[in-house]
Amino acid sequence: MNSTNPWQRALLQLKTAAKQLKLDPLRLAQLSNPDRVIEVSLPIKLDNGEIKVFQGYRVQHNNIRGPYKGGLRYHQNVNMDEVKALAYWMTIKNAVIDVPFGGGKGGITVDPKTLSEKELEGLTKLFTQKISDIIGPDKDIPAPDVNTNPKIMGWIVDEYSQIVGVDSPAVVTGKPLDKGGSEGRAEAAGLGGVFCLLAALKKLGINPQGMTVAIQGFGNVGSFLAKFLQKEGFSIVALADSKGGIYIPDGIKDLDEVERCKKQTGLLAGCYCIGSVCDLKNKKKLDGKNISSESVLELPVDIVVPAALENVITYKNAPKIKAGIILEMANGPTTMEADKILNRRKILVIPDVLANSGGVVVSFFEWYQNLHDKAWSKDKVFSKLKEKMEKATDLVFSTADKYKNSLREAAYLVALERIVNKSYEKA
Ligand code: GLU
Repeated sequence: MNSTNPWQRALLQLKTAAKQLKLDPLRLAQLSNPDRVIEVSLPIKLDNGEIKVFQGYRVQHNNIRGPYKGGLRYHQNVNMDEVKALAYWMTIKNAVIDVPFGGGKGGITVDPKTLSEKELEGLTKLFTQKISDIIGPDKDIPAPDVNTNPKIMGWIVDEYSQIVGVDSPAVVTGKPLDKGGSEGRAEAAGLGGVFCLLAALKKLGINPQGMTVAIQGFGNVGSFLAKFLQKEGFSIVALADSKGGIYIPDGIKDLDEVERCKKQTGLLAGCYCIGSVCDLKNKKKLDGKNISSESVLELPVDIVVPAALENVITYKNAPKIKAGIILEMANGPTTMEADKILNRRKILVIPDVLANSGGVVVSFFEWYQNLHDKAWSKDKVFSKLKEKMEKATDLVFSTADKYKNSLREAAYLVALERIVNKSYEKA
């Protein structure tokens, strides 16, 4: 098996869980093959007059439990096998966290930072046109993912509504508030991760106060996660994005300042302590230093959080991880070989399909509010999110106990059982 091919990994994970559950072979065949894969060509004229053709994808993995649901990713490495795996993981995630959706995912092979806003809008609207007959509020509901955001979702709503001739905010989630978005959607994935981690630590009888955390990824998920963790008493000692980051063993105190600095300079690595935000704030030189994006995973901390892309924990660095807990906020960050090594080393991996499911939970709330013409308060959204994350975390832990499995295997068992039985909770 090619260990870094996420689709191959997804299939193997499925096979293992299916064996343990004695899954009906027909169900296994249904889940081993996505319902539909779509690849579209997207030719656009750039601002300088040049014509460029991009590739777009939407994979509808499975809709046994409800409409296909999952994000759209804009990244230069997006390819069909990646999107297939991500769509499959959404089927599993939506079942673990118990929202009434199947799984889907999409994306465009593009580095959005190389496009102007006008080009990005044109590309997004062309993509919407090309997939307009397979998406819809009761068919397939995209959302933000890596490098996509509420503004992009807003363009999709506008284009889709124009095509179908009716205002259709529920065709995507993660929209801007004034286009039918939900309070709390932006914070949802990060905050959901905190609720999950707190519930896990409670199960383990560990007091979170002062636990040190290193986070790889400082996008929407990583930045909110860092802030909410700090509020709960964790010490965020390292942050990194794709170009590097900062490590301050005493803890990065002012996360808002780091965020402002990153926005200003475009680089997290430029925001390290010496001569920068920390000593400006603290008026003294701290023991901080720059680190690479990869080394953040190997720091001597209590908890490591991959919150960016897949395949970052491999057989090469798994033996070097010093943390006792890995909270997977990215999708698919750990290869199968690495998973085995981590299990052997008794490092607790809180799997992606549970840990990062807060985003799709609030997507569900957003979709539900759109369909029922409601606007819930942020407090209501957060407390319902907490309830869902705690319930799912408890169930995954007790399933792992029962079957003497890892948390990832347990999450798959929970999900597959629900998919087979088609059961779900109401909002
Ligand atoms: N892209 C997010 C995920 O991977 C959110 C998906 C959604 O809200 O539909 O879970």
